[in-house]
Amino acid sequence: MYSNYEIWWITGAQLLYGGDAVVKVDAHSKEMVEGLNASGKLPVKVVYKGTANSSAEVEALMKAANNDPRCAGIITWMHTFSPAKMWIHGLKLLSKPLLHLHTQYNAEIPWDTMDMDFMNLNQSAHGDREFGHICARMRVRRKVVTGYWKDPATQERIAVWQRVCVAWADSQDMRIIRFGDQMNNVAVTDGDKVEAEIRLGYHVDYMPFSEVMPFFDAVADADVDALVDEYFRLYAHDTALEDKAGEGYRKVWNSAKAELTLRAVLEAKGAKAFTTNFDDLGDVAVDATGRGFDQIPGLASQRLMAEGYGFGAEGDWKSAALYRTLWVMTRGQAGGCSFLEDYTLNFDGSRSSILQAHMLEVCPLIAEERPRLEVHFLGIGVRKTPTARLVFTSRPGAGVTATVVDMGNRFRLIVNDVECIKSKPLPKLPVASALWVPMPDFETGATAWILAGGTHHSCFSYDVTPEYWEDYAEIAGIEMLHIDKNTTIEDFKNRLRMGEVYYMLNRSLYL
Ligand code: MN
Repeated sequence: MYSNYEIWWITGAQLLYGGDAVVKVDAHSKEMVEGLNASGKLPVKVVYKGTANSSAEVEALMKAANNDPRCAGIITWMHTFSPAKMWIHGLKLLSKPLLHLHTQYNAEIPWDTMDMDFMNLNQSAHGDREFGHICARMRVRRKVVTGYWKDPATQERIAVWQRVCVAWADSQDMRIIRFGDQMNNVAVTDGDKVEAEIRLGYHVDYMPFSEVMPFFDAVADADVDALVDEYFRLYAHDTALEDKAGEGYRKVWNSAKAELTLRAVLEAKGAKAFTTNFDDLGDVAVDATGRGFDQIPGLASQRLMAEGYGFGAEGDWKSAALYRTLWVMTRGQAGGCSFLEDYTLNFDGSRSSILQAHMLEVCPLIAEERPRLEVHFLGIGVRKTPTARLVFTSRPGAGVTATVVDMGNRFRLIVNDVECIKSKPLPKLPVASALWVPMPDFETGATAWILAGGTHHSCFSYDVTPEYWEDYAEIAGIEMLHIDKNTTIEDFKNRLRMGEVYYMLNRSLYL
């Protein structure tokens, strides 16, 4: 996926210092780009696009970046002084994410040999401030990374932004299919789908069950049999489930057919994400042998999430989109991610925690142990019937969870650092789950989340840091509220108040 994209590097310069200087700027820039690509730290290739020495050159480069679907973002760096009026026309046009790298070709000042020629050539300290000014003046959203380009810490910050750039590019043609609408009367999972497409890029459609059925009917029994065999190979299970005459086998078989149906729909529609509603899917087309779409597709949702399809329960298209974005951002990393839902509290002094589960739909990428395939009665929704699912608990460890809510005049991204802890066995609740303590502690973290209007749905990852979400919010131009170990309710309330004023003033400006 990352190999489908590239990041462009443009070095700011000017012709004041003569052709020789530009030749050196060019050579240094090439060396730096090659060095970054060879560092092994960057998941997306950086492509050097040359020096920009005039307004016309900047504008041409920005137009080319906008029009090239491979270009996921632009890195700018001012080797010499680059008078920033020459960036105005290009920056007005730029529609791709921007990273301004404040670095320098040489690490240390060559004290004994430095002369005025060297000073003229190596003045990033000077030029990057000029460039920063015009970005600030024009309210250009960007990430500023300051640090030596060979420093792994600098490279890591570029890498984070690159990952977010790819996820952002991925979301610009994201189609989300909703099987059913919101769960009736639920507010927090709903929102303005038109504004979401304008602001965040993704498109939300729906699909009535009558359109799903031809896909269901087209699934071959042999393919279902093969997928059931795969389940039994992959997942721990009671061998009684393999009894083809038993109800358990039939439930697993129906689940496999539901998975093949949903995947076929998503592929045919070019969709990257989907939502379900437990009142909608299930208990249709069941024949005399008990085969049919007879349960909510929980197992299918779990497995499709692990494949990278965005998922939101109860029609939650914002979470479906956010999960897909999170999955893309974390490609190649080991930790795993999942859609999760705040379910039940465990008051336990300073270690009070929240059980994260859903009825069934938790992604097996976060499982600590080999997931176990089980069939149990599901007593929720209009279809109360035995239902197949993967059961596991999540790994202990630090992570970050995030959600997006619609505040009426803006989208708000809420991010909370959390610590997953070991949960106790749940013999009477056979579903996948995680158990976490929100930072800075349960009381403050949950209070802040509730004050911010955060949903009970969120997208969790062991891999991302808050910097990923900061970069995402900056690119998207949406509000971000981060709840971490330093959060106090007094400060948090002031941030909420400041956000109200900021977004009231800037409501129509698309800053
Ligand atoms: Mn829910």
